Amino acid sequence: MSCIFCKEEVGSEHEEHILPESLGGKDWAVLPEGLVCEKCNQYFGAKVESPALSSFPFLPFRLFLQIPTKRGKAPRQQVTIGEIMSSGIPGVVGANPRDDEIETGIREENVTQMRIRAEVTEPLAVSRLLLKMGLEVVAADNAEDALSEKFDEARKFVRAPATGSEWWFLMVTDHDSLFRKLKQGVTCQEWFEGLKLEVVDEQGAEVFHLQLIDMHFITPLERRVGPPDMSDLSEPKYRLFNPVC
Ligand SMILES: [Zn+2]
Repeated sequence: MSCIFCKEEVGSEHEEHILPESLGGKDWAVLPEGLVCEKCNQYFGAKVESPALSSFPFLPFRLFLQIPTKRGKAPRQQVTIGEIMSSGIPGVVGANPRDDEIETGIREENVTQMRIRAEVTEPLAVSRLLLKMGLEVVAADNAEDALSEKFDEARKFVRAPATGSEWWFLMVTDHDSLFRKLKQGVTCQEWFEGLKLEVVDEQGAEVFHLQLIDMHFITPLERRVGPPDMSDLSEPKYRLFNPVC
């Protein structure tokens, strides 16, 4: 079999998760063996998954959903009051106050809020992670199809993007609903019900859609699909990114 990303022959086999384990992808998310080579797998882990999953929006998502890393570690993030981390209990996060003043403030209930910087700092990694997932969803359904020429540009952007090349993605978030659910604590069942990875037809081309509870990510798997007209789609619910490599 050829690797769906570099088209080289796949030598040694390994487990490849369509939805990364650090984003909650378990056994059901494993791609059939022999579709991704070890070299590409290593590359994605270091250059795509690592920066994407350790930044907004995936990091706070993992943190509040209590999704540990592959090695079982609790996700952590810097916030205004110091550092917060998963506690393992739905709806509850632990905190490491930045200094004594904040620690005392928390104890005395003067400090009751913290702010997370809701800014996508690694749009290129997010874009490439979405594309990688999209191509793997195609491959899980039909490995031959994933190797077709129409995905060559997506493949290149994921594995070896040319300097100056770009690939858009749209993020759609229902912030109120998401915040309410994260505060209450999301059960395993709710998390599963709010999860979707699908490739849909749009303007006669294939587009990938990832849904994580109340967050949606949309990116084309073929470059000819242009970004949506943003004049009717306002921020912060709709955010269009067009990261350049
Ligand atoms: Zn490969």
